[in-house]
Amino acid sequence: MTSGGEVVVALDVGGTGMKCALVRPDGTVVHAERHATGAARGPESVVGTILDVAEGLAGKARADGLTPLACGIAVPGVVDEARGVAVWSANVGFRDVPLRELAEARLGLPAALGHDVRVGGLAEARLGAGRDARHVLFVAIGTGIAAAHVVDGSAATGAHGAAGEIGHILVRPDGPRCGCGRPGCLEAMASASAIGRRYTELAGTSATAAEVAGRAAAGEELAGRVWREAVEALADGLATGQALFDVDTMVIGGGLAQAGPGLLDPLRAALRERLTFHREPRLVAAALGDEAGCLGAALLALDTRS
Ligand SMILES: [Zn+2]
Repeated sequence: MTSGGEVVVALDVGGTGMKCALVRPDGTVVHAERHATGAARGPESVVGTILDVAEGLAGKARADGLTPLACGIAVPGVVDEARGVAVWSANVGFRDVPLRELAEARLGLPAALGHDVRVGGLAEARLGAGRDARHVLFVAIGTGIAAAHVVDGSAATGAHGAAGEIGHILVRPDGPRCGCGRPGCLEAMASASAIGRRYTELAGTSATAAEVAGRAAAGEELAGRVWREAVEALADGLATGQALFDVDTMVIGGGLAQAGPGLLDPLRAALRERLTFHREPRLVAAALGDEAGCLGAALLALDTRS
């Protein structure tokens, strides 16, 4: 490892854990750590941990002869990136927390705040599976479903910090009720948790989405049916996404993407069936795994310098 040089401090704050790193301007991670979010202790305590960890990382950089330039923080929920405010989050409990200002005051460095899925999309679009495309839709499928629309390396935030909620596109009006309160959202049909729940309901024995994918691939009829229904719903959501955004590349990330070709092959075919005059996007698996959020936070930090 070369000594000296510039780095940014990057934190990706999730419901249970924080992925944190010192990242060089070229995207190389020089140091990484993980911490518990401790959401049960309440939002004030989480904010305290974020600031302590960020300060610790900046100190570590200096101790190693590196110069910390800026800090980037990614959080879930509704994020007002322009004002640097964590507006609302179900799993961390944030309500209008001015995290950017707090980080700048504590670290004495420029800071940026971003939405976890949007910065993940930013990283996939600039450094990962979408790096050869100018128009990218990143879709993260895990316990929920959310997307980021990235054009020329910049992710659209929406007027209220809530762009990309593809999981709440209505795909089955008579479908199961979504966490948002409405029946039939894509997320209620095709998130990893929805797939596990649906199979468990029908089979009377519990299984995760990954297990359903495995059983479907092995030829189990019920698993195959549940998996197909989810893929069809996802294709409906992606077709809507393509009608809205006309992208070159769709990058599929999140836990469900680990099903690999078992997801992407049937999804590609189902999406193709739904497109009429729209151009078919390239459909690929995410390349950065669970590091995407942290790398995206680093990119946001670097962007404060340009
Ligand atoms: Zn919903």
